[in-house]
Amino acid sequence: MKKQIPAVKGTKDILPGEAKKWQCVEVMVKYICELYGYKEIRTPVFEATELFEKGTGETSDIVIKEMYTFVDKAGRSLTLRPEYTPSVVRSIIENRLYLKPEPLRFYYIGPMFRYDKPQKGRYRQFHQLDVEVFNEEDPAVDAELVEMADHLLQELHVAGTETLVNSVGCKKCRPFYTKELRSQAERAREALCPDCRRKVITNPLRIFDCKVEACREIAQTFPKITDYLCQECREHFNRFCEHLDFFGIKYRIEPRLVRGLDYYTKTTFEIISTKLGAQDAIIGGGRYDDMMKEFGGPDICAIGFAMGLERLLSVVPFKKKREPFLYVAYLGEEAKRAGMSLVRLLRREGVECLLEYRDKSLKTQMGRANKLGASWVLIIGEEEVRKERYQLKNMATGQQEEKSREEILGVIRKAS
Ligand code: AMP
Repeated sequence: MKKQIPAVKGTKDILPGEAKKWQCVEVMVKYICELYGYKEIRTPVFEATELFEKGTGETSDIVIKEMYTFVDKAGRSLTLRPEYTPSVVRSIIENRLYLKPEPLRFYYIGPMFRYDKPQKGRYRQFHQLDVEVFNEEDPAVDAELVEMADHLLQELHVAGTETLVNSVGCKKCRPFYTKELRSQAERAREALCPDCRRKVITNPLRIFDCKVEACREIAQTFPKITDYLCQECREHFNRFCEHLDFFGIKYRIEPRLVRGLDYYTKTTFEIISTKLGAQDAIIGGGRYDDMMKEFGGPDICAIGFAMGLERLLSVVPFKKKREPFLYVAYLGEEAKRAGMSLVRLLRREGVECLLEYRDKSLKTQMGRANKLGASWVLIIGEEEVRKERYQLKNMATGQQEEKSREEILGVIRKAS
């Protein structure tokens, strides 16, 4: 036996049955995004490592521990994107999209890569829908983004979700909070996990992301960022919440929701599913008003969210129903050719057909059609070829009738 080569740890194949579900979700995602004025953008899977170091942030877990970084043949350090936002910001600046009259609203669906510990709902290659809007300061747009996510989840019949919101302040007010948080975390240092001890120095806000129970309990005693917001951030947050009320969106203010990335300012939000285990976040997002400027672009604000598609798919209820299709069973070379020409015609009319080139007995072919869930079977033998009339069997009723090409098309059209 030759040695088999398995898939890389933390990655998984999306097999045909599953891929169909992905297609359904992707169609809905695109439809909703376009309804809200977002346009698709596609950027490369890998970028200069520096882009994420600077964008995602040097103190974030992603940059410290999770990037797939490699040196290419020319000695450049490249990274498989662990998230999408820095790429889209780079692209806007590079292509000067901000000079165009179109609104700066973008969406993207694609794979992300993080060297995280694989578990249920957490993979090393996973997929995100990413939605970003630029140059809109009004907190109404923050609320509209949450409303859009809510709309999408409703269209996909996802039940049992909860929306958590918070504000993480801005460059003016956050340093006061961080200072106070650091001094309190310093006092609790000994009881924190080694990772959080490091965060006390590098970025104490990240302690709130820790999943270790002891750290979570201690974090509950820390001050709330919402008590430290400046006038501007407080007003922005209050108005964001008012707009959510206006849209009738139910939400919970979660003062310890800081999110794992360094760049957030003001609004942050998360939509979690009560049906998922430890990895319960389906959507995470927030404002990042300073990133564009930091990357040498114009001083324009931004807000966006990322939705994990693996997690989303695991909570979307799918109907088992297979699309109707016609199976062609034939006997003999002439019948096979007649079948080939018939399926060619029917496919051009939009009918899904399957003809398997295996020259098996009619009985075997009927068995296959049944097993595959065909809606109709077209039976072609010598007699049918001669008459140019074929046996069409309705698999649900068992009824079988002789039909011409046109009649077959008529029957299928009527049924679909
Ligand atoms: P983030 O970019 O970390 O804010 O994550 C946004 C969303 O992507 C999360 O709410 C998850 O749904 C999904 N996600 C993040 N990391 C992973 C992962 N390693 N595997 C699967 N989904 C993920």
